Amino acid sequence: MQLKDSSLLKQQAFIDGAFCDAQDGRKVEVINPATGELIGTVPKMGAEDTKRAIAAADRAWAGWKARTGKARSIVMRKWFDLIIANTDDLAAIMTAEQGKPLAESTGEIAYAASFIEWFAEEAKRVAGDTLPSPWEDRRIVVTKEAIGVCAAITPWNFPAAMITRKVGPALAAGCPIVVKPAEATPFTALALAELGQRAGLPNGLLNVVTGDARAIGGELCANPLVRKLSFTGSTAIGKLLMEQCAPTVKKVSLELGGNAPFIVFDDADLDAAVQGALASKFRNAGQTCVCANRIYVQDGVYDAFAVRLADAVNALKVGNGMEPGVTQGPLIDEKAVHKVEEHVADALSKGARLVAGGARQALGGSFFQPTVLVNVTKDMQVAGEETFGPLAPLFRFHTEAEVIQQANDTEFGLASYFYSRDIGRVWRVAEALECGMVGVNTGIISNEVAPFGGVKQSGLGREGSKYGIEDYLVVKYICLGIQ
Ligand code: ADP
Repeated sequence: MQLKDSSLLKQQAFIDGAFCDAQDGRKVEVINPATGELIGTVPKMGAEDTKRAIAAADRAWAGWKARTGKARSIVMRKWFDLIIANTDDLAAIMTAEQGKPLAESTGEIAYAASFIEWFAEEAKRVAGDTLPSPWEDRRIVVTKEAIGVCAAITPWNFPAAMITRKVGPALAAGCPIVVKPAEATPFTALALAELGQRAGLPNGLLNVVTGDARAIGGELCANPLVRKLSFTGSTAIGKLLMEQCAPTVKKVSLELGGNAPFIVFDDADLDAAVQGALASKFRNAGQTCVCANRIYVQDGVYDAFAVRLADAVNALKVGNGMEPGVTQGPLIDEKAVHKVEEHVADALSKGARLVAGGARQALGGSFFQPTVLVNVTKDMQVAGEETFGPLAPLFRFHTEAEVIQQANDTEFGLASYFYSRDIGRVWRVAEALECGMVGVNTGIISNEVAPFGGVKQSGLGREGSKYGIEDYLVVKYICLGIQ
């Protein structure tokens, strides 16, 4: 990998302001999913190394919390500037370990940096409250304080942004944090830590522990010094971590799976809906928790939409994300490809039909063709499970009531999308969908200003926006006698 600054590729974990190996010297390999080549190794750390990181974070807490919001903001702003200045290298590292096209990695670095910038600004705006007292001789003051040592466990699909949207609010609120990045994508996380160090984050404030997920996660959940856990990943692991946090009653934020409906009504702008579906479904090769998973198209436009979407999908270019013009990289691993194959085979066996793709890509490895299926029905696996891959299944519907019922017929509730130009319908449907986020006439909704998060089994808490910092704060009520 060619980097302008090769010292950004760190092959050690980051604890207490220093890059270091695992106590027992174990290492784990990181592979480029596009080529199968070894990028490098990182320490395979376990519970003992994690304890050390938590202790360092705990030592850093008091000093950081005591700084003014403005002082914290200044350091964070420097970090933001360094991330932006090193965008090209960070994007190259990301594409190498994650596989997404370089243009998407570049976009993700800007998106990731925006959380540091946003929360650097929010650090100055953590305000308390005074409340009218029911007593003549006492006054009521409410303050907001940093919750304490935080832990973040993050996935591989957004190797930078899933970290900064947890670390940003934690640091802004006055908390130290220990991050466990996904096994597949530790190098982006470590490069961010290096830039944080250069920006002047105090030792121990930000720690990145790589290695054994179960052992590290177990310690992060069990250790009483950790007051809060923020997790992004699968629903199954989210539930497990919530359970593991119960004995020490940690505050938890969970951003889990989705099963996003994407609804196209008869009155939609069809070209816009096709573009929206393409962006929502095929970005990151379909590997995002807000990707459209079930595309419902009303009877009157179903056939026209299917033809246009298939044409657009056939024009996507699959390949190594480092190559110019590539719009879809490999999936993260063999398991991910297997899941897409399973969903396609199940749908075909129950009467669906392929209008684009449907098989592994000729490049081999974990490349899969962008795929569109028509005649998809609710008895098929893809109706109930997140594919997390480049498969667009088109369901047919007739009425608004019917599609709302079907869209909500899932235990998940993260993102939903729909296209309509009828203002009454827009309002009705936006209210009726059971989810945390609704895109109306758009397939892209994420940004640092808006609250990201789900309802039902898609999670707890909100990330980004003015609401995002609340997850890292605790409210203190001070009753002040004035006699
Ligand atoms: P995915 O299927 O998208 O990889 P996971 O939920 O398995 O989703 O992974 C998300 C994050 O959770 C990763 O950092 C992974 O290492 C971590 N993880 C997986 N299993 C555990 C576990 N038992 N304890 C703690 N963290 C875990």
